[in-house]
Amino acid sequence: MQDLLDKVKDAGLDVTSVSGEEAIAFWERVKNDIASTPWQKAQCYIISAEYRASLNQFQQSIEELKTALKLLQLPQDAERILSIEISLSERFIEIGDYQTALQEYISISNIAVEHGFIDEYAQAVLGMGSLCHRYGEAAKALRFYQKIDSIDHAMSSRALRLKYKVCMLACYIDLKNYKRAEALIKECEELSILVSDKTLAGQILLYKAKICLARNNVTDALQIIAAVPYTTRHNYLASLSCLIKIELSLCFMQIGKAHIAEMLLLSQNKKIASFTHPELKKDLYQALSNIYEYQHKYQQALDCQKRAFQVETDLMRRIPIGDLGATQLRRLSRFELQLKLILSEIENRELKETTENQKNTVAQLQQDVFTDPLTKLHNRRWLETKLKDLLLHETSFAFLVVDIDHFKSINDELSHLVGDKAIVNVSSKLSGYFNFKQASCVRFGGEEFLVILEDVTLEEAQMHGEHFREHIYQFNWQDILGERGLTVSIGITLHKEGENTQRTFYRADKALYRAKANGRNQVCTE
Ligand code: GH3
Ligand code: MG
Ligand code: MG
Repeated sequence: MQDLLDKVKDAGLDVTSVSGEEAIAFWERVKNDIASTPWQKAQCYIISAEYRASLNQFQQSIEELKTALKLLQLPQDAERILSIEISLSERFIEIGDYQTALQEYISISNIAVEHGFIDEYAQAVLGMGSLCHRYGEAAKALRFYQKIDSIDHAMSSRALRLKYKVCMLACYIDLKNYKRAEALIKECEELSILVSDKTLAGQILLYKAKICLARNNVTDALQIIAAVPYTTRHNYLASLSCLIKIELSLCFMQIGKAHIAEMLLLSQNKKIASFTHPELKKDLYQALSNIYEYQHKYQQALDCQKRAFQVETDLMRRIPIGDLGATQLRRLSRFELQLKLILSEIENRELKETTENQKNTVAQLQQDVFTDPLTKLHNRRWLETKLKDLLLHETSFAFLVVDIDHFKSINDELSHLVGDKAIVNVSSKLSGYFNFKQASCVRFGGEEFLVILEDVTLEEAQMHGEHFREHIYQFNWQDILGERGLTVSIGITLHKEGENTQRTFYRADKALYRAKANGRNQVCTE
């Protein structure tokens, strides 16, 4: 998406300046003049389709999504294809074409299982369950939702997890299984803390109120309903708002205030034409019918019941419940083995990644243990191991002890910080010069270093020492030390066969002393 947005920006256009019909024309232009790859063109169609849906142009929105689909290919575009098909299924539900919506769900589930997309698979199954529930078959809906339950732990979207649990909750309430519903409410409430979906939060409260009302606890139900605007910050769908008014009216009826209940419902009845969810109309007519009956207004009650019945039969006619029976569930069951395989693959991959991370951590720790933090040279601990190794393999080697001259005065005159900088600089020159296989550099003490040269003669070691000393002497220290320069003194010796390394070091140290005593900035051997 970003590459397309960048291109649009480069063309001097501002995506944020348009909305509505204007936005549709804008993205048509981007598609024709700016988008170059099939995916970029598909993106233009997808965005335009969203604008059309918000303008209730569902049919055109569907056409654009279908065109976008044609531009993409499996397997490389699997994720994008799934996301478009999910949008398409939502559009079909909005226009009441449940048959085609189901075809989409079937297609989504096939692609998702084939390419290992757990969340998208769950969304398809959730859609199938919702169709059953819409038809009025809560028990059947639950059987679909339970299929999601078995892959719950592998879903990555918390919002989706909460959504299907809220759908299950609605089914348990319809089936009057309040025990299960109450347990599920607890789970949903916990989950909703982490999901910032206000409509879902409102729905949970609505179902909580329903349970209270079913148990004749009107006071609690009213209290819960009163909390909805506060919890959702008034930011919820019109359909949820209507459902809450219906619940509220049922509460008022229960405490004998039928006239308030009637007023509330009639206020919703005015908006009924704008409802896209037919079952909302059914619920509203049903509630109104109950209230009229309570008030002995039998003719009106009958009228409302007829309307509710009409909506219901229409829904039943359009929902392909026959295709959502045992055959469909068996089809999903056949996927279960494949899903298990996908899940174990995901888990194995994660396990491998974790082991690799641990390996890296161990390697890092090992490196830290043997490295001087300031200079990144080897430290004394490393030296101990190295010396044992040299003795074990009877390797011949030379010690070069390198010490910065008059270092204390650098600290004193220019600060400890500058001193550190000088140490780091000498270290990097040391590892830069002695970068060959037989050489190792160790920070031995504050401003003192040890270079081990393997398989060299004293002359060769002396030659290297001399070159390095000269290199330090010639270096322009101006940037770090201003007017003053920096030199090093070096003491060199060869290890003698069978000798203790302590003794070798003692000799190198003596050579260093001589270099210092002779006026510094020089190399001495012993
Ligand atoms: P010489 O030419 O005889 O070697 O004189 P010098 O001043 O270099 O030697 P001396 O051993 O007297 O002083 C070394 C100083 O290095 C003493 C100590 O405070 C300082 N030093 C040790 N480690 C560090 C360090 O990590 N950073 C800094 N800035 N100073 C350090
Ligand atoms: Mg020194
Ligand atoms: Mg020293």
